[in-house]
Amino acid sequence: MAAEHDHALEVRGLCVDIPTRRGILHAVTDVSFTVEKGETLCLVGESGCGKSMTAMAIMNLLPPLALRRVDILKAAGTDLAAISERDMRGFRGNRMSMIFQEPMTALNPLFTIGDQIVDVLRQHRDVSHAEARKQAIALLRKVKLPDPELRLDQYPHEQSGGQRQRILIAMALICGPEVLVADEPTTALDATVQLQLLRLLKDLQRESGMGMVFITHDLGVVAHIADKVAVMYGGRIVEFGSTSGMFRNPQHPYTAALINCLPTTGAKPRQPLRVINGAAMPVIGEADGCAYRSRCEHASAACEAITANAPRSLTRGHYARCVLLDEAAPVDGEAGTERALQ
Ligand code: SF4
Repeated sequence: MAAEHDHALEVRGLCVDIPTRRGILHAVTDVSFTVEKGETLCLVGESGCGKSMTAMAIMNLLPPLALRRVDILKAAGTDLAAISERDMRGFRGNRMSMIFQEPMTALNPLFTIGDQIVDVLRQHRDVSHAEARKQAIALLRKVKLPDPELRLDQYPHEQSGGQRQRILIAMALICGPEVLVADEPTTALDATVQLQLLRLLKDLQRESGMGMVFITHDLGVVAHIADKVAVMYGGRIVEFGSTSGMFRNPQHPYTAALINCLPTTGAKPRQPLRVINGAAMPVIGEADGCAYRSRCEHASAACEAITANAPRSLTRGHYARCVLLDEAAPVDGEAGTERALQ
């Protein structure tokens, strides 16, 4: 039983290293955060920044060669750094669940929707097949899937993208998890369905009190769903803070640049969208200096020496790893929030 003061999820000093021919790839370095009950943390960043690896490391679902090191990893009061893989299998899908990015590949095309949901429930609960079907129908109704009785005997290919994602949400929630990790669950969907699913997840979270880690590259999604945000770059959290604090007063140039790239309603016809020039490079071997410096317009010689793991500034719940700190806030914060919510 979790003690009252426990966080829903606590991660301290998480690192994931992957050996490659060119040296050790530091996929995740010194990632730390907590998520409280009923709270949503968004992990944000572009492809390859380490957000999905962080999720897989929490779920202990890393690829075989990846090596996880962590000081503290606790979910729902259980020390996940210390439990066996057998116990982890009993925990995963039960007290801590994950919604995967691609609904077509996350569902098994050979089994009916009912078989897949019932299977998850019966792995973790001692219920009859008939009772499991009853609970599956009730949950499919709750995630607003039309005709749930009929769907139960259909296959994944008979559902639309939005319906498949609702089924995956139901599968993740069937055992009533205390922590939910959602890896870009709405990325492949059109904007209307995306908004419906974000609202649905928030409603379900309000009802159950589960803590949620939501991975996305979309700041619009962040503005709708997050209580706090961790912006990742080069495998590290480069800025962490409350959602409103982050949009109003971004401290790291990368966060500011991401907000600046959001489209505006007042844009002139043919006005090009702003972009962040260059590409994110994987951090292989010894990390020297700030990983963002080849793309940062504020980079200086001082940025080559920023190797310490500790954040460069720490105000109440809002920190960033940057030598500039307070100077690095070139966007209009109010406008940033408005743009993200459009
Ligand atoms: S440390 Fe330097 S390169 Fe890195 S974000 Fe800050 S100013 Fe830019």
